[in-house]
Amino acid sequence: MIDDSELIHRLLKVRLQYERIDIRCARDSKNGLECSRSFEPDVILLDIEMGPTDPMDGFAILSELKSDPATRDIPVIFISASTETMDRVRALELGAIDFVCKPFEVVELKARIRSALRVRSLVRMLSQKAKIDGLTGLWNRSYFDSKMEEEICSAGRHGRPLSLIMCDLDRFKDLNDRHGHPFGDLVLERFAQLLSSGRTSDIACRYGGEEFAIILPDTDRKQALQAAERIRYALEQETWPGHDGLVVTGSFGLSQYHVDLDSVKMVTCADQALYRAKELGRNRVEFSQRIETEKLVA
Ligand code: GH3
Ligand code: MG
Ligand code: MG
Ligand code: MG
Repeated sequence: MIDDSELIHRLLKVRLQYERIDIRCARDSKNGLECSRSFEPDVILLDIEMGPTDPMDGFAILSELKSDPATRDIPVIFISASTETMDRVRALELGAIDFVCKPFEVVELKARIRSALRVRSLVRMLSQKAKIDGLTGLWNRSYFDSKMEEEICSAGRHGRPLSLIMCDLDRFKDLNDRHGHPFGDLVLERFAQLLSSGRTSDIACRYGGEEFAIILPDTDRKQALQAAERIRYALEQETWPGHDGLVVTGSFGLSQYHVDLDSVKMVTCADQALYRAKELGRNRVEFSQRIETEKLVA
């Protein structure tokens, strides 16, 4: 709650004491913004009229909250003595989720807080869903792209190793043709489970169709080769109920971060290695050759 009035803070604390709510109070804009960033509240109650010495009013605070990615998605309920229609309109247009007039009934405020929390959890669920592949439950391509950028920056900054595995199932078109598309889907789901069974810091993604990618932070070339080989072997050994004797395999291409590589080049390197694994007979792991990397950089 960001409000310059001590009375309001005390009133709310007393009236909401039996709710399962952890209330933080800020009495000026500076403290309010700091608290919003560090505490990451589920909802913010914001007053329009702040104290006479405060450089910001509620509208300015709201704009600031909405321009910062860290606080942008926190629902803000305006609480104000203002009965001006234009103040309400302005607050809603700046991104406030609701507006309550002082003096307010606490039951109404509680109901509005609950409603804001419902919206908040829906937004969280949707943004999470937008990054997840529906069939396999792995991270999707768009998440992969943003995460790759992030991990490359972090590896560069901290001088830590970073590996990438790209993999593609072998002769998957044949498998679909012979056993049907639904069985193909089942194979993709099972393979996704194998991909997620490594270190918890590994980020397994569905790159598209029957192609997958794993980002391996803090993992050097040797460890990445071991990880890929473990997955390759597990897939080859997998038994498929109702399809006795069927062996499904995949090909793997690896690349390793170094300072001259950006995310696109790192994917290209792993892709080239994957292509070579296919050419050399499939069901194998290949590492990107430095020579190809240098060609790319040049
Ligand atoms: P290669 O060993 O060279 O990779 O051969 P391939 O047949 O796997 O390669 P190709 O890229 O020609 O075929 C990929 C197939 O994957 C074609 C497509 O129908 C199938 N596929 C892509 N997405 C899905 C999916 O979501 N479900 C199923 N069942 N099949 C899919
Ligand atoms: Mg005030
Ligand atoms: Mg493919
Ligand atoms: Mg394939």
